[in-house]
Amino acid sequence: MGSKHTDIIVVGGGHAGVEAAAASARLGCNVILVTTRRDRLGFMSCNPSIGGLAKGNIVREVDVLGGIMGMAADQTCVQFKRLNSRKGPAVRGSRAQCDKDLYCDTIRDVITKHNNISIVESEAKSLVIENDMVCGVVLEDGSTISSTVVILTTGTFMRGVMHIGTKRIEGGRVGDKATVGISDQLAAQGFNVLRLKTGTPPRLKRDSIDWSKTTPQFGDKDFFPFSQRSQKAFYLPQVACYLSYTNERTHDIIRANLHLSPMFTGQIEGQGPRYCPSIEDKVTRFAEKISHQTFLEPEGARTDSIYLQGISTSLPEGVQEQFLRTIPGLESVEILRHGYAVEYDCIEPTQIWPTLEARGLNNLYLAGQINGTSGYEEAAGQGLVAGVNAAHRAQGKEPLILGRDEAYIGVLVDDLVTKGTREPYRMFTSRAEHRLHLREDNTIERLFSRADQLGLLDDEYKERLSYILESREKLREQLTAKKISPTYETQKKLEKIGTPGILKQISLKELLRRNEVEFRMLQEFGVDVEFGEDVFEAVEVDIKYEGYIERQNELIRIARKLENVKIPSDVPYQSIRGLSREEVEKLTKIKPLSIGQAQRISGVNPSAIQAILVYLKLHKDAAHANRHR
Ligand SMILES: Cc1cc2nc3c(=O)[nH]c(=O)nc-3n(C[C@H](O)[C@H](O)[C@H](O)COP(=O)(O)OP(=O)(O)OC[C@H]3O[C@@H](n4cnc5c(N)ncnc54)[C@H](O)[C@@H]3O)c2cc1C
Repeated sequence: MGSKHTDIIVVGGGHAGVEAAAASARLGCNVILVTTRRDRLGFMSCNPSIGGLAKGNIVREVDVLGGIMGMAADQTCVQFKRLNSRKGPAVRGSRAQCDKDLYCDTIRDVITKHNNISIVESEAKSLVIENDMVCGVVLEDGSTISSTVVILTTGTFMRGVMHIGTKRIEGGRVGDKATVGISDQLAAQGFNVLRLKTGTPPRLKRDSIDWSKTTPQFGDKDFFPFSQRSQKAFYLPQVACYLSYTNERTHDIIRANLHLSPMFTGQIEGQGPRYCPSIEDKVTRFAEKISHQTFLEPEGARTDSIYLQGISTSLPEGVQEQFLRTIPGLESVEILRHGYAVEYDCIEPTQIWPTLEARGLNNLYLAGQINGTSGYEEAAGQGLVAGVNAAHRAQGKEPLILGRDEAYIGVLVDDLVTKGTREPYRMFTSRAEHRLHLREDNTIERLFSRADQLGLLDDEYKERLSYILESREKLREQLTAKKISPTYETQKKLEKIGTPGILKQISLKELLRRNEVEFRMLQEFGVDVEFGEDVFEAVEVDIKYEGYIERQNELIRIARKLENVKIPSDVPYQSIRGLSREEVEKLTKIKPLSIGQAQRISGVNPSAIQAILVYLKLHKDAAHANRHR
């Protein structure tokens, strides 16, 4: 072993790696972050934005659990939108388009200033494994760092190959070399290594665009920061994005050149993300559509680079130039960087425990794109969980497993380790059965006590979050206690805010339940509307949707009962009568920790669940009888 030793080594400084390092360090561990480029910590490989539907919820969860993504996104936001703000609260999501370079600078600043984190700029070539236990990494210069735990967050880099037309270039993304060694080693250890693919659109030169032919799209005037650490006003001047459309000429050029697209020639073997299709995919899968929209998004407040949202492509450079110039506004466009696809190795996530520790290789944790996901937020959420669990492993503490009813991060991890994935997994609100509970506005209620117990929050932030919870409680009390009576004056006020009069005394809570009544209108009745949206929104949603929320809570209670029926990891499924061969195979592979998890494994039928319950009961009874003999 080399001379250096640390508690935790994090391999990779992307979105998963920086959250993992920050979480472990906050819990008091010494962390060495090994990454190929120090200047690209938290680098946005693709779109210059953080959040979105369901993803925004993950960012807020990471923040309440003490993470850094939300605060960095707030400070570097150049356009903010709350998506679906007119729809139900379960499907609202915040999205911040960010200044990409500043985002990286902000993350680097946080990581480099942390006393417990040191950065080693190098490639980790292999893991040091002794007796099925990972205890360090070997760097490209042949030196070794030993550690109690290793976290792998290698993103799109393991045996990464970029494709543009028929060109194949080794690399994890433009400007970064591929990393080689660890995936081969994991395959040799018996891990099933998958090949996945993702793609990115061209970046365009700002001055070469005729903006008059596009339609500006502005962000929201109100800022609803991801982090309660952030100020309530925008940090940076806000910019517009611009909308344009492809047309039949664009599609004709793409169709005529499909034989040069690596996805269509079979050059790319990896499975791509169904929900982020390339433009080649779009014109073939949705052949009836004569136009697709594209957003031109500045990659920052000052940069010259424009990201072309919706036009991911890996066609040859010449073809990209040809079809882009058919799009209104892009007739004379200059391309700063062509679109490309990248293929990379990842690990089939059913080979990982819900703690994100690898099965069969102790003290090795995996997080981010290496687990088959796609997206910065999904990576950050996993990084945080892996960071906490690695620290807890090093310190001999209980692991953290977030429930599906606690956080989108819980849904994400459970889906990955229980169902696996064959294509880059992206989070959607529809993946969460308890989505009315997993809202953005109640993230503090859902996760504050966890974060506090785990010791993830500094005193100042703890105080801030407690203050918000207390204010919400006070407001709830005030709205329940304060009553209005059907006096002439009250009816006049009700008429003024556009709601029918009342026949008997009611509380302000009951009044707020009415569809047309908004919280701010209650000022008429003496309510302190100076409470910020971060205080009143959660209270308002709880009141307006009380009936639905109660029903949701009932379902959560039922589901929790099944989660609480634990299954020991050594259950011999092959000897349980009534299980099919497929069920035995899947249960043995996944080793569900609870009946709740077992019933989510695809192919495991209700009859199998009954059989396992009978087995557990018989063995519990037998164990009980033996104890009392
Ligand atoms: C071309 C491209 C297109 C994409 N398109 C989309 C998209 O459309 N939508 C979407 O949601 N996501 C997209 N992504 C994915 C998005 O970038 C990732 O989901 C996200 O960055 C994953 O975060 P991560 O931390 O897992 O990995 P990354 O952000 O990829 O970071 C990995 C880090 O690990 C380091 N590293 C790797 N191996 C080693 C090693 N052996 N030793 C030391 N350091 C190592 C790298 O240097 C890097 O810092 C795209 C990515 C690329 C490259």
